[in-house]
Amino acid sequence: MIEQITDSINNKPETWNESTDSRDIIRWAIKNHPNLTMTSGFNLNGTVLLDLAVEAGYRGEVIFVNTGYHFQETLETRDRVQEAYPQIKLVTLTANLPDDHLFLKDADACCFARKVAPLQNYLARKQPTALLNARSRDQASTRSDIPFIESGKERARINPLAHWTRETLEAYAKAKDLPVNPLYWEGFLSIGCAPCTRAVRPGEDSRSGRWSGQGKTECGLWTNVSGI
Ligand code: SF4
Repeated sequence: MIEQITDSINNKPETWNESTDSRDIIRWAIKNHPNLTMTSGFNLNGTVLLDLAVEAGYRGEVIFVNTGYHFQETLETRDRVQEAYPQIKLVTLTANLPDDHLFLKDADACCFARKVAPLQNYLARKQPTALLNARSRDQASTRSDIPFIESGKERARINPLAHWTRETLEAYAKAKDLPVNPLYWEGFLSIGCAPCTRAVRPGEDSRSGRWSGQGKTECGLWTNVSGI
């Protein structure tokens, strides 16, 4: 109770900084967005965020979009996460598209059809005013200025891990023995669909294994052109 009172008095976005406890950001989001929801691809960031969110009292849905092209290890990680956190409700969405190999011809169209559209449709029905997500500035130069709260196309994005580094994420996951996707420890520092993900080479940033050589850096979920 004392912690909650202190939180309500002192926990304001304008006071957040590099040393802010991510659980305080999540508590603020729960309080200010009662229909808060969360998406996850069960990467390292996502697994850490989920653990922190449960600690902070989040009991909403965690939405996973199954594109049909995920690694088996990712699907198994999703299942292990659900077992580890019975407090949350895991929702899997899918576009139910045939194996058209569109990713070979038009990766943006493939991402939109298989990932962005199913999530947009689901969120249009649910109408959350904010989404928790696990991106961090450390992941790529294109994410280096992510704020703790940003305005999205349809709703606010709350980024409680904005200030975390790869090293702090790994240390947290190991210390708490979290159900991390085993591919992560094989160099797949950001894991998307199997045809569009490779292991990261030494010195590359965490997301350089995504759509490598295609000039594409985002699936579109977090852009303001087509995103959520
Ligand atoms: S990551 Fe690749 S396979 Fe997955 S939806 Fe995007 S283009 Fe398609």
